[in-house]
Amino acid sequence: MVTTSFKTTKSEEIFAAAQKLMPGGVSSPVRAFKSVGGQPIVFDRVKGAYIWDIDGNQYIDYVGTWGPAICGHAHPEVIEALHNALAKGTSFGAPSVLENVLAEMVIDAVPSIEMVRFVNSGTEACMAVSRLMRAFTGRDKMIKFEGCYHGHADMFLVKAGSGVATLGLPDSPGVPKSTTVNTLTAPFNNLEAVKALFEENPNEIAGVILEPVVGNAGFIPPDAGFLEGLRLITRENGALLVFDEVMTGFRIAYGGAQEKFGITPDLTTLGKIIGGGLPVGAYGGRRDIMSMVAPSGPMYQAGTLSGNPLAMTAGIKTLELLQKSGTYDYLDRITKKLSDGLLQIAKEKGHAVCGGQISGMFGLFFTSGPVHNYEDAKKSETAKFSRFHRGMLERGIYLAPSQFEAGFTSVAHTEEDIDRTLAAAREVMSSI
Ligand SMILES: *Cc1c(COP(=O)(O)O)cnc(C)c1O
Repeated sequence: MVTTSFKTTKSEEIFAAAQKLMPGGVSSPVRAFKSVGGQPIVFDRVKGAYIWDIDGNQYIDYVGTWGPAICGHAHPEVIEALHNALAKGTSFGAPSVLENVLAEMVIDAVPSIEMVRFVNSGTEACMAVSRLMRAFTGRDKMIKFEGCYHGHADMFLVKAGSGVATLGLPDSPGVPKSTTVNTLTAPFNNLEAVKALFEENPNEIAGVILEPVVGNAGFIPPDAGFLEGLRLITRENGALLVFDEVMTGFRIAYGGAQEKFGITPDLTTLGKIIGGGLPVGAYGGRRDIMSMVAPSGPMYQAGTLSGNPLAMTAGIKTLELLQKSGTYDYLDRITKKLSDGLLQIAKEKGHAVCGGQISGMFGLFFTSGPVHNYEDAKKSETAKFSRFHRGMLERGIYLAPSQFEAGFTSVAHTEEDIDRTLAAAREVMSSI
């Protein structure tokens, strides 16, 4: 934690070379640190709660490869299971018992899921679910919320969160109007806006999709009654309710936000944690709806690498580890300590902040708040966040490089890691 020794020479060299080879030097936009300025660090290896960059600097990690690393990076049991699976081959393109095992675990855990289909990413899961809700209802329109991110498929790039929010992109060029005319948007936590959309579009809305706890516009929990209200409105209008739990699944609780809040949607998308650090997505829900998916039904969706044995193996082992009693109590306890500590330190140092956490997911906005939706979140002082981010980075704390991304802890994070993080924050908050 000695700032004077912080050198990132090799990272800078590698990133400079990367920028000539790949757009922006990265394989996914937020990684480029554009919104916080400076250069990204280039990773060398990860283990437990820590990452090491190519220059040998060690960091306490609160990104966790954007969510999957909930058991800590490179957990020895996950690595061992992968070694054993690797010996049997890397891809089958045919049924394997591993799919049954993970499917059963997902169905047992997530209240809404009676049948599941595995895909390769959260984006794919959300694409498929939008097709499915339309196929099932015979309606074309859907409602999403401003600042919610459901992957990069065309129809979701309307007022989207994550990198779209981070980079301040309005909507992406290359997305034809014809694909987004059917995407209606409302502010998060605003039931009246949703009701109005249903009134303006009678019998035309297939469903409502949302992050039940927003993580892609910063951390924004649902107001009391919001999820209940959506359940009621969708039911009254013959529309489907879809929880995108790619981020919140197995993180907010083992059964996701739907378990935590006791609201059961019709369909759910998953990703991140269920792949245990390998590329996976999934969508599932009511048996009658899922039965429409090919080859059981007429809605086409397929994937060469879907149900990949390595990804299934990492997912199974990760969920097994999460089943240990006390997992979510522990995540909640250390994350609350972190979140409360950050808020208290920031306020002591005179900064306007708000934030919070549920289980191992947290957020801190540099605005007095309260933040109920993306409009509120955008009032944050992003320049101050950038200085905070940089100061923490230099002290060995790796935070998501955007004001508009949630943070994540893992069961590998210790009380001592949190104490070190808060000590760093106390220094940084004094100088921003
Ligand atoms: C990450 C994320 C996605 C997209 O998943 P990818 O695996 O990056 O394609 C979709 N929805 C939510 C809520 C996410 O957090």
